[in-house]
Amino acid sequence: MFLSELVYSLDRIKGIGPAAMKDLSNLGVTTIASLLKHYPLRWEDRLNIHPLAQGVQSGFVNSHCEVVAHEYIGHGSKKTLKVIVRDHTAFAALVCFGRNFLETKLQPGTKIYLTGQFSYKYNELQSSSFEFELYEENTKPLHFGFFLPVYSLSGNLSQKLLNKSIQQALKDYGFSIEDELPLYLKKKYGLMDKKEAIKNIHFPRDNHTLQLARKTLIYEELFHLQTVTGRKALKSHKSRKKPRELSHSLFIKAKESLPFELTRDQVKVIDEVFQDLSSDKRMSRLIQGDVGSGKTLVAFLSALPIIEGGQQCAMMAPTELLARQHADKAFELLNPLGVTTAFITGNLKSEKRKNLLEQLKKGHIDLIIGTHALFTQDVEYKDLGLVIVDEQHRFGVNQRLSLIEKGKNPDLLLMTATPIPRTLCLTAFGDLDVSMIKTMPLGRKPIETHLARIGNEEKVYDFLKGELSSGRQVYFVYPLIEQSDKINLKDAESMFAHLKEVFPDYRLGLIHSRLDDGIKKETMDQFSLGEVDILVATSVVEVGVDVPNATVIVIEQAERFGLSALHQLRGRVGRGEHQSYCFLVYSNLLTEEGKQRLMTMKENTDGFIIAEEDLKLRGPGDIVGVKQSGFLKLSIADLTRDLKVLMMAREDAFELLKKDPGFLEPDHEMLRELYSEHPPFNDALMSFG
Ligand code: ADP
Ligand code: MG
Repeated sequence: MFLSELVYSLDRIKGIGPAAMKDLSNLGVTTIASLLKHYPLRWEDRLNIHPLAQGVQSGFVNSHCEVVAHEYIGHGSKKTLKVIVRDHTAFAALVCFGRNFLETKLQPGTKIYLTGQFSYKYNELQSSSFEFELYEENTKPLHFGFFLPVYSLSGNLSQKLLNKSIQQALKDYGFSIEDELPLYLKKKYGLMDKKEAIKNIHFPRDNHTLQLARKTLIYEELFHLQTVTGRKALKSHKSRKKPRELSHSLFIKAKESLPFELTRDQVKVIDEVFQDLSSDKRMSRLIQGDVGSGKTLVAFLSALPIIEGGQQCAMMAPTELLARQHADKAFELLNPLGVTTAFITGNLKSEKRKNLLEQLKKGHIDLIIGTHALFTQDVEYKDLGLVIVDEQHRFGVNQRLSLIEKGKNPDLLLMTATPIPRTLCLTAFGDLDVSMIKTMPLGRKPIETHLARIGNEEKVYDFLKGELSSGRQVYFVYPLIEQSDKINLKDAESMFAHLKEVFPDYRLGLIHSRLDDGIKKETMDQFSLGEVDILVATSVVEVGVDVPNATVIVIEQAERFGLSALHQLRGRVGRGEHQSYCFLVYSNLLTEEGKQRLMTMKENTDGFIIAEEDLKLRGPGDIVGVKQSGFLKLSIADLTRDLKVLMMAREDAFELLKKDPGFLEPDHEMLRELYSEHPPFNDALMSFG
């Protein structure tokens, strides 16, 4: 059996009752398989003997000692026993808070195994958190002599319970776990059998075994990742029959109609796209560019040679707000050139929708823009040549594939402002080509970011009045839509009412996800046209919204937002010629990590640097653009840390795919079964592909 086939309920394990099952499910552990994949956070070394003196530096000690004396701290009923122990390197004091009964057990002269966290205090090495076991000659200790796994816990779970349950699961099911790697690859790297690796990742005999088990599981996971994504890449990188001839007259006309020059990087990226489009290989290109770098325009311009060649383009955006905005801009830019654009939403009434779909099918529409409504079943194209996906990290792989399948082999252009480390491009995207827009449009002034503690809003409001009176517009962003009893957070609805009183001379609009689409559109249109001065919103305005006259964004309870959301939100301003400002108002509940996040925002404007800081703050286990968009869940490998292994696994996987793409060789039979019956990365977890 493959490990992932052990989908049995946890109540098969002795000692796991309903309460523990509930706690475990909070950790994502719901089956025997997931219990066995609940790998330790770390391992406590109770095998190797450390000299006591080492505790001065490392804090952690695992040693053999002898009790030499008893001392006491305090007097009377409050007195606390201190057991003095020694080995050949040092003395140490075991402070027995609430454990004076140890007096009898730990008589001077007793020999013990001892482990614990030590520190040098009051001129001695001491510990109040220690464990011991009496030493007996010719007897193996129960709690010492091995590596002790330490697991993440939740609720009332204990280390002991997890330890026992996993031991039990290994005993009952461990023997049946099958290998998931071809023998020749196991040999190549000297890896363990899968069942051995699983056993030893939890209960390793020694450090060597532990490292080998880790190496095995990390390699295996990355190998599967590369094979799965590599297969997708092969499928999507089909060739066209012949190179495509591109005509550029529409493109040149559009470019000349712009009131500004393209930036250097915009020109460069458009050039890269045109090369792809004219080659005989289907394009799969990702454009990465910071918020406000002008990706939308690049997308529109890229579409023009395709349209001129008589094919259609579809552009998908993650929210209706954004799709509609793109559609408006496309119309403005392209309608004068004779290009027919259209906007489609899920809410379109039947008659209109029917009409639109007919036009599309007949090829009367050149560029259609919409949300995922673009790929519902009844949408048909005459000849779809290019698919553009904006803010692509917000889509699932299935959504994107179904759009591609609408065409006979459309080219694919993805856009994102969320920087994705190179390693991820290689893994999750298979063979995606990447273009970067680094230069910002000319004349942009860096946004000034200020932090303000809650209670100091008055000063912020005063500042806003100045901006408003010179004709600029303002965003307010809140973590919640409406007042909630449970959490004491500011919400958009009550603040909308409050801000109306603060700014009686200005027009305010409210926008959040639960409002009617019609109302949302109206408010957004009014804000774009300058008929609304202050837009009160939730993070719905996070992606893409583009109103260059808006120069201030006030984000309240800013510590509630992650770094990438804050960066996206801040990107709503600084889109025009005017100096722009971002105010991050924080509450009294600021944590150290929250403070770091806000400081990062204050000190940086570059999205790539912010993404790096994000990585540092969250720690290496949590990869930028991965957990935050929830697209890829690895159980043991770490794409940053394990880069070398990743590259080896990639080479092996691609070689295998080239040699035996259908997994028909006997060596690969297990892979065929695994990938078809129990695919290791299910699509729900992968929104890149
Ligand atoms: P992104 O999607 O990368 O965040 P947008 O495409 O929304 O950025 O562009 C931000 C703003 O900059 C838009 O108002 C757009 O019209 C404008 N813009 C785009 N390219 C240029 C340029 N080369 N010069 C000046 N303004 C530009
Ligand atoms: Mg955009």
